[in-house]
Amino acid sequence: MTAHPIDTHALSQLPVKKLHRRPMREFTSLRVGGEADIILFPENMDELQEVASTAVSRGIPLYPLGGGTNLLVSDQGIRGAVVSLFRGFNYISTENGNGQGVIVRAGAGASLSRVCLFALNKGLEGLEALTGIPGSLGGSLTMNAGRNSASIGDRVKTVKMLTGKGELVSFTRQEIDFGYRRAEYPARGVIVEAELVLGRSAERVVKAPDRPSPSRQVLPFNAGSIFKNPPGQSAGTLMEECGLKGEREGDAQISHLHGNIIVNRGSAKAAHILKLMERARESVAARFDIRLEEEIKVIGE
Ligand SMILES: Cc1cc2nc3c(=O)[nH]c(=O)nc-3n(C[C@H](O)[C@H](O)[C@H](O)COP(=O)(O)OP(=O)(O)OC[C@H]3O[C@@H](n4cnc5c(N)ncnc54)[C@H](O)[C@@H]3O)c2cc1C
Repeated sequence: MTAHPIDTHALSQLPVKKLHRRPMREFTSLRVGGEADIILFPENMDELQEVASTAVSRGIPLYPLGGGTNLLVSDQGIRGAVVSLFRGFNYISTENGNGQGVIVRAGAGASLSRVCLFALNKGLEGLEALTGIPGSLGGSLTMNAGRNSASIGDRVKTVKMLTGKGELVSFTRQEIDFGYRRAEYPARGVIVEAELVLGRSAERVVKAPDRPSPSRQVLPFNAGSIFKNPPGQSAGTLMEECGLKGEREGDAQISHLHGNIIVNRGSAKAAHILKLMERARESVAARFDIRLEEEIKVIGE
């Protein structure tokens, strides 16, 4: 059931591509989530600024959406506006780093995979480990996405953001606190662009070494790791040792292949996934006295 929508009429009037009352399951890799009141697709900075200033002046909450690959949206959906940058903010280019490697400048709506492939094809080193992580550059900069010991934050020179106050500001890497699957910025807002510093390889085309295992690629709808690894531990192993693999709630199931992944076998609801997560948290706390922290972002009513 979808809760009563809030008044987004002012946003509906803007000359920006938009969808009304669309289920968020269409925009998330877990394929769950109720309706968002409005989803906007600005194609340039003027449109984005108009969307943001209208939302702020009318008190309409604005939720940035990337590829939806790390999101669990509630069954009641999102009251307010969702903004997606994938239509207009997907450019990628290179610049000379003036002795500090090569700068790749990319829009937040570009997919991280495209940014990685662009770098590989130009013979630039530094993003190989991130090849194959799904989602957008903007999402990766919010999550500090990474694999093994490498993460996107390692390569950041600057991140440009349209803040909640409507200011377009550029933060240097030193001003951003990148940690394990988290990034704290000096302000909140919509990330619009980043500059990444990469090295030039002696080879013309760099080889991408780290690919997800084939078993991970054939999993049904999922959002990658549900919980962060506690220090020195693997969340998946802790869950497996609690006998949680294969546990089900409706059509949601803790994967038989990976303890820390919940799959939607077709018609799962967000409520089923949240129940499984709670069961996992309780089991791990009871057996190991460890509190699992969510990696996925849970949003909505
Ligand atoms: C099969 C699979 C494998 C995965 N493997 C990995 C992995 O190896 N390593 C890893 O780190 N992650 C992994 N993930 C998780 C996910 O891909 C990453 O967290 C990814 O960076 C999320 O990007 P997204 O664009 O999909 O973000 P979304 O899921 O759309 O959003 C995530 C968060 O970022 C915010 N956000 C998105 N765009 C912006 C923006 N422009 N400005 C401000 N905030 C924004 C959203 O509001 C939300 O809070 C995996 C997911 C799947 C489904």
